[in-house]
Amino acid sequence: MTQHCHYLSQDREVEIFEHAANNNLPVMIKGPTGCGKTRFVEYMAQKLNRAIYTIACHDDLTATDLVGRHLIGAQGTFWQDGPLTRAVREGGICYLDEVVEARKDTTVVLHPLADHRRILPIERTGEVLNAHPDFMLVISYNPGYQNMLKGLKPSTRQRFVGLTFDYPEPQHEVVIICQESGIDKSLATQLVSLAQALRRLTDHDLEEAASTRLLIYTALMIKSGLEIKQACYACLAQPLTDDSQTQQAIERLIDASF
Ligand code: ADP
Repeated sequence: MTQHCHYLSQDREVEIFEHAANNNLPVMIKGPTGCGKTRFVEYMAQKLNRAIYTIACHDDLTATDLVGRHLIGAQGTFWQDGPLTRAVREGGICYLDEVVEARKDTTVVLHPLADHRRILPIERTGEVLNAHPDFMLVISYNPGYQNMLKGLKPSTRQRFVGLTFDYPEPQHEVVIICQESGIDKSLATQLVSLAQALRRLTDHDLEEAASTRLLIYTALMIKSGLEIKQACYACLAQPLTDDSQTQQAIERLIDASF
C-alpha cells in the first residue's frame, strides 16, 4: 500500500473516479507527463482503501508480463501470476502508466477486463478468472506526444471512463510545490511564473512542456542549498531539450526571472 500521500484536487476528478469505482468501471487518464496522474491514482487507492499495482509500460511489455508465466524452480515448473493477475485475484487498482507504450497484444487481455465481463482468461493455464469485486483497471497516457499510430484504438477507448489532466492552475501549483519541497510561497510563485513562460515556448520549440514534477525537482534542489539559477538550469533547461539553441532560450528566460 502507498504511503500517506497528498493530492490537491483540480476539478471533479475525485468524484468521477469514485463513481467509476462504485460502478465497477475502468478509468483512463489522459495528460502530459509529470502533471499528477500517478499521484491522483495513488491518492484514490488510499481513499478507497484498495491496494495499488502500478505497471510502468514500455515498448517491450507484453501480455505475458502482465498476466504471468511458467518459471522453472527446484521442484520443476510452476506458474507465477503477473501484476495484473494478482490485482484481478486479490482485488485492487491495477494502474497501467503510459499504456500506449505497451505491445499491442496487451489490449487482448485488457478488453474482457474492461467491459461488463470483468474476466481474465489465462491462456497458458486454461483458467478464466472473474475479477475480485475490488478490482479496478486504470490506464494513463499522453495523447500529445506519441504519433497517431500509437494512440489507443477506439474499441479500447470506448471501454473506459475518461479524465483529462493538465498542469495545475498556477495558484494550485504554488501550493503543491511548497508542500512537496518545503520552499516558501514567494519562491514557488516565481518558479510557477517561469514555468508559465516556458510553457508558452512549448508550441514551437519543445516536445514537452515544463512539468510540475520538474518544478518540484528544482524546488528541492534550491531547498537543499543550490543557487536558484543553477537549480533552474539543471532541472529545467537540461531535461527539457537537447537542442543548444533552445537551451539558451530557456536559460535567458531563467536569467530574466531571477
Ligand atoms: P504523471 O503521473 O502525470 O507523470 P505524477 O503524478 O508523478 O505525474 O506527478 C509528478 C509530481 O507532481 C508528483 O510526485 C507530485 O509531487 C506532484 N503533483 C502533481 N500534481 C499534484 C497534485 N494535484 N497534488 C499533489 N501533488 C501533485
